[in-house]
Amino acid sequence: MVHIRTDREISLISASCQIVADTLNMLSEHVRPGIKIIDLDQMAEEFILSKGARPAFKGYMGFPSTLCVSVDDEVVHGIPSNKFLEDGQIVGIDCGAEKEGYYGDHAITFSVGNVSESRQKLMKTTKDCLTKGIAEAKPGNYVSDIGYAIQSHAEKNGYSVVRELVGHGIGSNLHEEPQIPNYGNPKQGYKLCEGMCIAIEPMINMGNKEVVTDADGWTIRTADGKVSAHFEHTIAITSDGPKILSAVSKNG
Ligand code: MG
Ligand code: MG
Repeated sequence: MVHIRTDREISLISASCQIVADTLNMLSEHVRPGIKIIDLDQMAEEFILSKGARPAFKGYMGFPSTLCVSVDDEVVHGIPSNKFLEDGQIVGIDCGAEKEGYYGDHAITFSVGNVSESRQKLMKTTKDCLTKGIAEAKPGNYVSDIGYAIQSHAEKNGYSVVRELVGHGIGSNLHEEPQIPNYGNPKQGYKLCEGMCIAIEPMINMGNKEVVTDADGWTIRTADGKVSAHFEHTIAITSDGPKILSAVSKNG
């Protein structure tokens, strides 16, 4: 079922979203060549716990870590390891938190040191895809209007959209209905209405759309070995349109 959230519930979801936004903002200071990926995970876990929240991914379906950290051709769900980040890589960091029974989910792809122009363009286009998808998340539109906007922008730039993984409703569970694909034709699927909270998360590949799963059962990577980027926000659909809950608040 699709949940329609009360104002109180939306403020609780928003509180968890603020924690993930602040976590990624804190991590952004540490993403650089030479940092050990598992150290980022440790910092994130301590930060989230210090806010009275719980890392939402840790233990979810057996996932072992606080963050999903996905480097270069890894699309999503990379498990933090003892590897070091290297100059020129792009790294997707996805973070979830739960506080008082409500969830926030947010992801950013970061540059590590000096990143090539073509990789920067992929990251910017993916972020723009997210912005364009969010703009469609308003009452009266349909779920597929979001995916159509994302797919159109990605393909116009010569990139491809991962099909196997999608955005989702969010609230009292990390993943709820409806699924929010990053592709599709307009005016299909569930009709969006005020009070829905969803996570929109385009995964855009530089090469073709095919992905494979590593032997660890989690890490999703591109089949052709080319790089992929991922950005995600949790939003609430309001009578005024989409409200991003996982942006860093100006009040800190
Ligand atoms: Mg996420
Ligand atoms: Mg998500």
